[in-house]
Amino acid sequence: MHLSVSELDEKIVALDVWHLALPVNSRRDHGIGTVADAIEIVIVRLTGESGTFGYGEASPWSVFTGTPEASYAALDRYLRPHVIGTRIGDFISVMKLAQKAVVHCTEAKSALESAWLDLAGNLLSQPVWALLGDRHRDRIPLSVSLANPDFDADKALVQRLVDDGIKFVKLKTGFRDHAFDMMRLEYLKTDVPELTVRVDYNQGLGVDEAMQQVPEIDRLQPSFIEQPVAQHEYPAMAALRKLTRAPLLADESVFGPEDMRRALNEEICDGVSVKIMKSGGMRRGMEVAGLAEDAGLPAYGGDMFESGLAHLAGVHMIACTPNISLGCEFYQATYYLVNDLLEQPFPIEDGAVVVPDTPGLGMAVDMQRLHQFAIRSSVQSG
Ligand SMILES: [Mg+2]
Repeated sequence: MHLSVSELDEKIVALDVWHLALPVNSRRDHGIGTVADAIEIVIVRLTGESGTFGYGEASPWSVFTGTPEASYAALDRYLRPHVIGTRIGDFISVMKLAQKAVVHCTEAKSALESAWLDLAGNLLSQPVWALLGDRHRDRIPLSVSLANPDFDADKALVQRLVDDGIKFVKLKTGFRDHAFDMMRLEYLKTDVPELTVRVDYNQGLGVDEAMQQVPEIDRLQPSFIEQPVAQHEYPAMAALRKLTRAPLLADESVFGPEDMRRALNEEICDGVSVKIMKSGGMRRGMEVAGLAEDAGLPAYGGDMFESGLAHLAGVHMIACTPNISLGCEFYQATYYLVNDLLEQPFPIEDGAVVVPDTPGLGMAVDMQRLHQFAIRSSVQSG
């Protein structure tokens, strides 16, 4: 991190917050809950003395990480006093203060970090990945999640994905019944063999049913199986790991580095899904991936229900984190939102996300759409 140069003596003069509801094109069922009609996100914008902007997104889900109301309050009320009037070069100390200023609210801390690095990158004419470390990749294989309770609709989506060159899908399971999960996985393995299929339960199973159902799913050879049981069921995760040939990934069981250390101690997983909304930002996500790497475990680039702005922060993190080697799932901007929040299409080519090399997060927010989909706002920059 090289932020203590003279350009970064500039101070932050405004912090603006918007709570948005972005319409989506279908219902999606996950093991822990359902999304229909719209996703709710919180956007933060920082303004420097020169009038330069930086944007960040908090993408909470009330059944998983937290609520949009909490993200909004964290930014507007609890983090704002640590930000206004601060030198942009004081990034590290402000993020440390943010950790202590409000408990949890990892999505809001991630949004603040993204906005801060977007602003710093814009001032220095550097992409965010260059502020985080060395770039190890310029393309990230994209996985799209299949979660529609109407499987015929998902079959049509699968055809579109194959036509688009997508090579990975993740089947969401554990929200209806085992026969439905087996039928869909069998279809994908048999009828669409060009796709690599992963399975994600999103904590949808009780411990006893997981011990029965997960080994049967494993026999159909998904390339990994993610989080069958509730996040705190560490012993069950450790037991399931021994029952399956496919690698067992931890998602909800591992939010930040503290959880990763425990997960490694208790040997609950063969890999981990890293998400900036769980860890509280890109740098803490990199820390999770680094701990996994030290133990020989690969990491996957997960996400929440996000717009392209949050995807971009994840992209910059993965670009400079070699151990996030299992691809990413930044598909919502392209395949799920009716309208994304970015002015230009989120960059996907030949089944992979393209890492931007333009300054900051690398793409502009569509302000007309931001205002159109805002439910409420706290705007003080005029
Ligand atoms: Mg998951």
